[in-house]
Amino acid sequence: MGARLFRDGRWGRGGLIVAVALLGARPLLAVPIPYRVGPAESEDEPTKSHFQWEVKDQGAELALDFGADDPELPRQLGISRLVKLPARRQGDHFIVQGNELNALVREVFTPVAKDKQLVRRDTEVTQVDLQEVSIQVARDNFNLRLTLTLDVTVHTKDEDGNEDSTRINGSFPITAEPVPLKSEDASKAVLDRFGRYVDTARKRSIDPRNAARYVDEEAFRRALSRAGEDAASNADTHGFVDRRGTPVAYIRPGALPYTTVHEVTHVYMNPHFRDLGKYVNEGVTHFFAQLAVVDPDGNAAYDFSQRYQQPVRAAEGLLGWAGLDTVATAYFGSGTAEIEALRRRVDENKGPGWFDRFIRENR
Ligand SMILES: [Zn+2]
Repeated sequence: MGARLFRDGRWGRGGLIVAVALLGARPLLAVPIPYRVGPAESEDEPTKSHFQWEVKDQGAELALDFGADDPELPRQLGISRLVKLPARRQGDHFIVQGNELNALVREVFTPVAKDKQLVRRDTEVTQVDLQEVSIQVARDNFNLRLTLTLDVTVHTKDEDGNEDSTRINGSFPITAEPVPLKSEDASKAVLDRFGRYVDTARKRSIDPRNAARYVDEEAFRRALSRAGEDAASNADTHGFVDRRGTPVAYIRPGALPYTTVHEVTHVYMNPHFRDLGKYVNEGVTHFFAQLAVVDPDGNAAYDFSQRYQQPVRAAEGLLGWAGLDTVATAYFGSGTAEIEALRRRVDENKGPGWFDRFIRENR
């Protein structure tokens, strides 16, 4: 574990896969990652998820949410709100094609053809011919690039019996960006990887649906002030954990997408771990949060590289000297004994006094 799993302020994909394996965790993600298509919305609105993407053992699954913008739409189209489509690997990307997608395109095109007036309303859609229908899914850094390829002919007949046809043929590229996990999904992702390290009483006291709260700016400031935090020095804070009772994370409007899983990781942490100082606390949190959302290919769902470079270097030291298991036991445990065990382990490895000196230098 002394190998450098970390480069240029971020953990490499190989390092993340190794880390998941060292935890004895299954490489599969516990939850699908939600994505949004199209331009950013208002900062105060909760972000809509247009589809979910989940990399599986052999392939992947694309779940399209037809009700994200308009809850009435699935009913109008006569389809269920979340339509799940299997994807198979094809080189470095995935491809969705086959019966499920064909059936969906047929179902969608019949009402769409009428609604968008591809055909007149007094005209009947008699047949939808699919020459080609596929969706290619590729990663573009942290975004997904979907390419919908269609060659579809809609056949119609008007009330006088005149037949006609309209052909739609082309490739439609779509870029989608990951949006934050819901509270219960962030909890599920963290517990799936680290559940066996988390103190049982703490785990029991936290309601996964309430581990993170998305609030507006005013409520965020009120929560900061209730927790005794100063609003001015928290002007750049994307989220924080209120620890006065059962810990709860507050997420600021417009927070970077990784914030929720980062803060929810803090929610499950040993409060004594914070005594090791800001760098160690934030660095280990950041690394563990990233591990919670790494897929079997070693791709983290969110961009974790934007903050915490120095803290992550501090965490890298600890993880290298003590190993993931000992650090996770200290981080998610219940008291100071697990932190003492971490200190002993580091000093065994590096020499007496090393841990205390390291903590002093990384405050
Ligand atoms: Zn943090």
